[in-house]
Amino acid sequence: MKINDQEVDRRIARFSEVCRNAGKKLTHQRMEIFREVARTGDHPDAETVFQGVRERMPTVSLDTVYRTLWWLRDLGLVNTLGPPRERTRFDANLKDHHHFVCIRCGMTRDFYTDKLDQLDIPETVQSIGYAEKTQIEVKGVCRGCAGEENSQPERKGEPK
Ligand SMILES: [Zn+2]
Ligand SMILES: [Zn+2]
Repeated sequence: MKINDQEVDRRIARFSEVCRNAGKKLTHQRMEIFREVARTGDHPDAETVFQGVRERMPTVSLDTVYRTLWWLRDLGLVNTLGPPRERTRFDANLKDHHHFVCIRCGMTRDFYTDKLDQLDIPETVQSIGYAEKTQIEVKGVCRGCAGEENSQPERKGEPK
């Protein structure tokens, strides 16, 4: 799923600003790797980002892509999702949002709702630690896997 150009520009502008403020060098390679994550709503893993970047930069290595993605995460420019495992996925959407995950094909899509942003955190959580935000993962079967053709998830309610 392609992110609209305006939003991609916003993400890239933020990336430049964060690099400048943190005194990090914004190399062409770092920019291309970030752009690859920023322009998709697919929550790609490192391997998928690598395949995309390689089309424009044939000299890039998978190792560089890995290191750059985790570097972006340390800078707060992308988030990771799912339990830690070898195929960590990366997300350049920094707005409050939640995920729908298809249990058959793994498709992951963002959705937005104030209702879930403002959930009451149960007291049991406080005994474990301090909550900073709530991100819900809804698991189910996507329309594609359910056999419904031409089904794009609805984009209603997405903040501009
Ligand atoms: Zn599916
Ligand atoms: Zn997301």
